[in-house]
Amino acid sequence: MERIEDKDFPFYRFKQLSGRPDIRHFVSSGRKDIGFAEAVDPAVIRRNRMELAQVVGIEVERWVIAHQIHSANVVVVGGEDAGRGALDRESRIPDADALVTDREGICLMVFSADCVPVLLFDSVKKVIAAVHAGWRGTAAQIVVRTVEKMRERYGSCPADIRAGIGPSIGKCCFEVEEGVAAVFRQLFPAAGSIVSAGKVSGKYQVDLWEANRLELLTAGLKAENIEVAGLCTVCHPEQFFSYRRDGSKAGRFGAGIMLCFR
Ligand SMILES: [Zn+2]
Repeated sequence: MERIEDKDFPFYRFKQLSGRPDIRHFVSSGRKDIGFAEAVDPAVIRRNRMELAQVVGIEVERWVIAHQIHSANVVVVGGEDAGRGALDRESRIPDADALVTDREGICLMVFSADCVPVLLFDSVKKVIAAVHAGWRGTAAQIVVRTVEKMRERYGSCPADIRAGIGPSIGKCCFEVEEGVAAVFRQLFPAAGSIVSAGKVSGKYQVDLWEANRLELLTAGLKAENIEVAGLCTVCHPEQFFSYRRDGSKAGRFGAGIMLCFR
């Protein structure tokens, strides 16, 4: 990824998705919360979102946000959905963790504070997706389901899809109990590097970046079209919010992608 400096709202861009006239995208950084958690003053979040919108050049009225529930639900978004969830909680798309569209001028957004944000772009059929893959979503192979939806609905060929796996909790910091480790061992029996012994006896470390990368390969993406940010949210407190580090008070950062044909 490359970092774009801004005094108010620094952000990141994937090299895989940059320098193209037909899409805009970003992953927000810094200490400004854009997440609408229950305890936060909505006016602050609205202000932060408008500020970010200005910095990345995508009006907040174009954002589309879902109520993320750690599911594998993939929802197709249309032009009429523009602005849903952008400035309030109530109008969000209900119960979804991946959004897909072929409409221009709609910025598909996902929020994270450790979970893996994944942005997808089919450069031939001009289809985009934004995915929120926590450990549950990763275990439910939400990125595979998203690519399937792109194929079914829009005829995307997986070999044409570029992917960015964003900043999120790294294996360095994702220590889990046996129960979660067992889920990933079963899902990736041949990939020994996904689960390894933790720093504490009886704990395990799980590599969600590699898990999502392998899932995208299974879905038919080419290895050279997948970029892994490799930035751990827990290890970078100045740049990213982290639920594991900051607890229930953690803010949220966001990843967004939009098609723009003109
Ligand atoms: Zn870490």
